[in-house]
Amino acid sequence: MTDSLIEQQMEYYRARAGEYDDWFYRRGRYDRGEDLNQQWFRETAVIRRALHQLGRFDSVLELASGTGIWTEELLTIGQRIVAIDASSEMLDINRQRLRSTRVQYRQKDLFAWEPDGEFDLVFFAFWLSHVPPELLDAFLDKVRRSIRAGGRLFVLDSLFDPTSTATNHALGEKEQNWQVRKLDDGREFRVVKVFYEPAELEQKLERSGFDVSAGKSGRYFIHATGTRR
Ligand code: SAH
Repeated sequence: MTDSLIEQQMEYYRARAGEYDDWFYRRGRYDRGEDLNQQWFRETAVIRRALHQLGRFDSVLELASGTGIWTEELLTIGQRIVAIDASSEMLDINRQRLRSTRVQYRQKDLFAWEPDGEFDLVFFAFWLSHVPPELLDAFLDKVRRSIRAGGRLFVLDSLFDPTSTATNHALGEKEQNWQVRKLDDGREFRVVKVFYEPAELEQKLERSGFDVSAGKSGRYFIHATGTRR
C-alpha cells in the first residue's frame, strides 16, 4: 500500500509540474476569491519573514524543491544550495526559473536517499505531509544526519483547511492520511497527506534530535524552526 502510494505521488507531481504554481499563486482551480487569496498571501509573507529571521547560511539543503518557489527565497539567505527532488520535470522548471550556478540539482527519491554531507540549514516545504507516518522517524533521522550540530532546520507545511486545495478536491477526514488529487485534465492520483498540529510536530522533531519551535501562520500554514542538538 505504502509503496504504491509513494510511486503514485511521484507520478502525480511529475505530471503536475507544469501546473504546480497555480496552487501557490491561487490561480484557476485554486482561486478562492479576493479575501481568502489575500489571507493566503499575507500568511506566505509571515513565513517568508520567519525564514529570513534565521539569518544567512553558507550551505543549504532543500528537500523536495519542486518548481523553485522556495529555492528562490533560499538563494537570498544561502550561499550554496543543493536541491533534491524526485521529478526531473520539477527540477527543470526550477533550473529555468533560477538559472543560478549557486544551486546544484539532484534527482532522487527521498525514501531511497542517503545523506552525504552536513549542511548549515535544511529546508523543506510541503514535503513532510507527504511522508507516510510509518516512514517518518527514518526520514527525520536522515534529516538530522544531513545537518551539522548546531545547524538549523526549517519546515513549512499545510494546515487542514478545505480552502487550501483546489475547488474540485475533497479534503476527506483530517486523520485519513491520504487524498485524491486531480490534474487540470481530470486525471486522478492518490497521495499521502498527513496534517500536523504544532505541538505534535514539535514533539516529533524533538524526539528526532532537534530543539524546536513550531507555530501556525493563521489558517493555512504550519512552520517549525529547529536547531540540531
Ligand atoms: N517544496 C516545493 C514543492 C512541494 S510539492 C514547494 O513548496 O513549492 C512536493 C514535491 O515533492 C514535488 O516537487 C515532488 O516532485 C516531490 N516528491 C514527491 N515524491 C518524492 C520523493 N519520493 N522523493 C523526492 N521528491 C518527491
